[in-house]
Amino acid sequence: MRGYVPGCEVKVPVTLAEALDVLAAEPGGWRPMAGGTDLMVLFNAGRMPAGRFLDLSRIEELRGIWEDETTLRFGALTTFSEMRDCPSVHRHLPNLVKSARATGALAIQNRGTLGGNIANASPAADTPPSLLAYGAELELVSLRGRRTVAYDAFHQGYKQMDLAVDELVAGIRVPKPQGLGFHFYRKVGTRQAQAISKLCLAAYARIEGGLIAEFRVGLGSLAPAPVRARRAEAMILGKPLTALQVTAAREALMADICPIDDIRSTVHYRRVVTANVFQQMLEELAHA
Ligand SMILES: Cc1cc2nc3c(=O)[nH]c(=O)nc-3n(C[C@H](O)[C@H](O)[C@H](O)COP(=O)(O)OP(=O)(O)OC[C@H]3O[C@@H](n4cnc5c(N)ncnc54)[C@H](O)[C@@H]3O)c2cc1C
Repeated sequence: MRGYVPGCEVKVPVTLAEALDVLAAEPGGWRPMAGGTDLMVLFNAGRMPAGRFLDLSRIEELRGIWEDETTLRFGALTTFSEMRDCPSVHRHLPNLVKSARATGALAIQNRGTLGGNIANASPAADTPPSLLAYGAELELVSLRGRRTVAYDAFHQGYKQMDLAVDELVAGIRVPKPQGLGFHFYRKVGTRQAQAISKLCLAAYARIEGGLIAEFRVGLGSLAPAPVRARRAEAMILGKPLTALQVTAAREALMADICPIDDIRSTVHYRRVVTANVFQQMLEELAHA
């Protein structure tokens, strides 16, 4: 049965403190809603018939993109369009611009938020691989206080997160890449636009004196949650650009992933294409 709109309750707090009060008073009783682009699909499909929504969209404290010398900080309500159009994001975090452009169509980009993309916890979401590659951190907030979690420790399994029922994602902090950087983002879907990923790979490397001084790879649709390619990273980190062990790193990558057959793709396709995209990335890195 479809969700029944007149049966819904919606609270619309205008401050973060007000929203946290509601979540603390009835833990699990109210579902945070940002852009609603994931939630309304579930609601319409009848998967949350008795909707009690905490609409976050009026909370100014959750908006905006700030930067200082070392960091870009995104309020959880930052939309894909805001990321896509922000000159600082273009300059420092081009993979995040590509992720935003690759997400849905313009209507979704105008309404969907970064916080929602993270907290929806889909393994196929498009910004998590970039956030993993850039070493992002999340600011989580509740009446009990504020805490910071490394994004690569946040997803703990399929739809499992280090997020309590009375907590909100308040912001996303991404360190600004320093020095000579290499950025790579590739989403593979059925079409160039408006397709959910069959697989997604984002990478960031910092090059210092001809060596790979920093290297992270984020993967989407290749495990129950967005994951880092830690084994493959270890094969590349610290190596000279001129002697990257491509074959060994490709093999290591296969141990980092555990794709499934589903309506979008197969295990075989995902393994083969991921290895090829990874190799293409390493070949571009070798010429950076
Ligand atoms: C037609 C269509 C196409 C799409 N295409 C793509 C695509 O190509 N790539 C992609 O990645 N996604 C896609 N999506 C999914 C969706 O648009 C994104 O996941 C979006 O980022 C969700 O953000 P939202 O603000 O709309 O989240 P909502 O729907 O409001 O919420 C999603 C989840 O996050 C929780 N939540 C939201 N904000 C917070 C917060 N601050 N703190 C704690 N929990 C929170 C909610 O409780 C809910 O569980 C598509 C959706 C549609 C309908």
